[in-house]
Amino acid sequence: MKITDNVYVVPNVVANPYIIVDPDGLTVIDAGLPRSEKKILGYIAGLGQSAQDVKRIILTHSDLDHVGGLAALVKATGARTYASRVEAEAIAAGKPSRQIIPSGFSLRRMLFTLLSPFFKAEPFQVDENLSDGQVLPVAGGLRVVETPGHTPGHISLYLPSLGVLFCGDSMVSEQGLKASRPTLSWDLTKVNESVKKQSMLGARIVCSGHGSVVIEAEGKFPNV
Ligand SMILES: [Zn+2]
Repeated sequence: MKITDNVYVVPNVVANPYIIVDPDGLTVIDAGLPRSEKKILGYIAGLGQSAQDVKRIILTHSDLDHVGGLAALVKATGARTYASRVEAEAIAAGKPSRQIIPSGFSLRRMLFTLLSPFFKAEPFQVDENLSDGQVLPVAGGLRVVETPGHTPGHISLYLPSLGVLFCGDSMVSEQGLKASRPTLSWDLTKVNESVKKQSMLGARIVCSGHGSVVIEAEGKFPNV
């Protein structure tokens, strides 16, 4: 689905992968659950582009639903890969950058503990580490915004030229824009700080890892 000029979201993938098209190649933000690569590459073909046109894959964080398709996608495209240092270390280890154990209801907790070993991504060595303020040569400048909280090394990406913010899981779009849920977050104080930081960027469109794209985003950021 087209979001705005040269920015697309691949439908029917958990979590949302985004594509930015430049004359010199494509940038993919997040890689979905394992086996999402087929849908992502199929969508890219539908744009009239080929796998080899993908130049960069940027990971907002190391959760399985964002890095599951990474290894296969890199194999198919030869793209260069990017993540924060903390998340890159977790991706290299093939595990999330923070342990989440659901509190409360004990059956859910038991299921989570039992199933956790099956929800692991293939270990993958990311090429380049990103840090706050860094600008990548994508669509006139794609700025890295460190947004810890959901995970320790979570990053968002902001495209000032189009006013588009890719916020990963720092915020979810569920009947409005919401801060990362407490049960899934590493540090709630940092979650709120990161929401505040992003609300001041002046973004007009917010693209979250989960849920629909938020347009006319001014004033729609969560109150934290
Ligand atoms: Zn996610």
